[in-house]
Amino acid sequence: MMRQLSWSAVDDDDPRLLQAAFALLVTLDLAFRIQGGARWDLVSWPVFAVVLLAVVTAATLLLPWDRMPSVMLGVLAVLDIAVIGTGRLSPEGSSIAILLLLPALWLGRYGAVRGAVVCFLAVGLFQALPGLVYGELAGANLSRSVLPALVAVGATVAKASAVQAIGRQQRMSDAIFDTVDVGLVLLGRDGTYERMNRRHEEFMRVGYPDGHDGVAGQTGAVFEEDGSTPLARELTPTFRAMTGEEFDDCRLWIGTDPRNRRAISVSARTVRDEQGDFAGAVLAYKDVTDFMGALRVKDEFVASVSHELRTPLTSITGYVQILQERDDLPEQAASQLGVVARNGDRLLRLIGDLLHAAQADASGPQLERSHTDLAVIVRDSVEAASPAAEAAGVVLELTAPPRLPMCADPRRIGQVVDNLLSNAVKYSHRDGRVQVSLALDGDRAQLEVQDGGIGISSADRDRLFTRFFRTRSAAESTIPGVGLGLSITKEIVEAHGGRIEVESVLGTGSVFRVRLPLER
Ligand code: ADP
Repeated sequence: MMRQLSWSAVDDDDPRLLQAAFALLVTLDLAFRIQGGARWDLVSWPVFAVVLLAVVTAATLLLPWDRMPSVMLGVLAVLDIAVIGTGRLSPEGSSIAILLLLPALWLGRYGAVRGAVVCFLAVGLFQALPGLVYGELAGANLSRSVLPALVAVGATVAKASAVQAIGRQQRMSDAIFDTVDVGLVLLGRDGTYERMNRRHEEFMRVGYPDGHDGVAGQTGAVFEEDGSTPLARELTPTFRAMTGEEFDDCRLWIGTDPRNRRAISVSARTVRDEQGDFAGAVLAYKDVTDFMGALRVKDEFVASVSHELRTPLTSITGYVQILQERDDLPEQAASQLGVVARNGDRLLRLIGDLLHAAQADASGPQLERSHTDLAVIVRDSVEAASPAAEAAGVVLELTAPPRLPMCADPRRIGQVVDNLLSNAVKYSHRDGRVQVSLALDGDRAQLEVQDGGIGISSADRDRLFTRFFRTRSAAESTIPGVGLGLSITKEIVEAHGGRIEVESVLGTGSVFRVRLPLER
């Protein structure tokens, strides 16, 4: 069964504990009095008090408090006041009246007025009245009978106002947590679900139609980002959070019914106690179904549009190439054809990038590995980039060994080098210099492309390899680009088992470094 938990559920004080503490203190008072020489007849008020205490305490321990109406706690408090009132009716006197504070505080739960009235009546009947009848209506006895009664009523009122203030706060925070459109869960130190808001209860009903036992790591109708692989226990967000892991945007699907299954993005943060030890975790579940749907539609749209564009464009650039090969063209027409060819190539590259980005999610880049020579690939790329560099007034320098054989997809690796080179040239200043160096580093090849261009701020560096991201300075400049090249470059490098990193200083220049294993 699913546990119904409110975000601000606060356990009531356990009456069994309260009564046990009370009984212990009364027993202590009796012990002190007997040790001081008190001797009571079998039929006397103190003995009556002991019997009453024993009966009330035994009943408290036996009663099923989780099913008891709250008025029973009031009855318990009144009986305890009776124990105190009768218990002090003995010639040697007693300071047990101080214990009135305990039942008086419990009565505070009934509200300021109701609690105070019950307390006043009970204390008046069982404490003040017998005291005054039994003893004198003056002096110390008057004071002993009346003052504790007044203090008890005051304690009830104080407790009642504190309870009301806390209740108000709780209702407010409950309202806030139930209003937010994000599912919230608080896990305890041992992984039990301690609190959850209403939104999360809805998610739980979809993800766990057969119920949830309220402990982290339960599997159910919960699937990985692909929507079909059931999520293993170790991958469930609650299980991961219980290992102390903190994460954002962990995507998964809940539910099996296509009409109501949801895509969820989960974040987790650890809760620590005063000593800094793990004390639980908070998880936030955000419904991203519409966002995922929009992403899918966008990718499908981009993929189909790119296909439709590529076919006619390939034919245009092909015919332009044939035209360029003719030697009877007027000089002006030849230069104009050059512009058409360059822009056609640019469009083809852009379409290729868009298509790649749209398809990358599903399968990642497909590699066709073969034994190839990285030195040749890099030299070809530098040669191909030379006209653009020359036009931009940038000098290209290459340092590379004559050969660097490796197992890789030559077309894809060529795309990596082309992207890095074209960026280095694009983002360089006129009269700038781009240095390309290729070297062997153990069982890895290392390629560095260094420029002295506009550079990248440290804030932008983390997002550089994200699709469609452009730095502010690039976006504000007239330098063309859409922010796809680096994300594709990173995917290709990682698909080869390599790594790409960047060092850069804004306004000074950048170094992009790629490390690729030679064999895999
Ligand atoms: P594009 O160049 O088409 O915008 P990329 O994915 O290749 O896309 O690069 C992403 C962003 O990274 C660029 O828009 C630019 O802001 C920044 N960037 C890439 N290379 C460099 C570089 N060598 N110098 C400065 N900024 C760069």
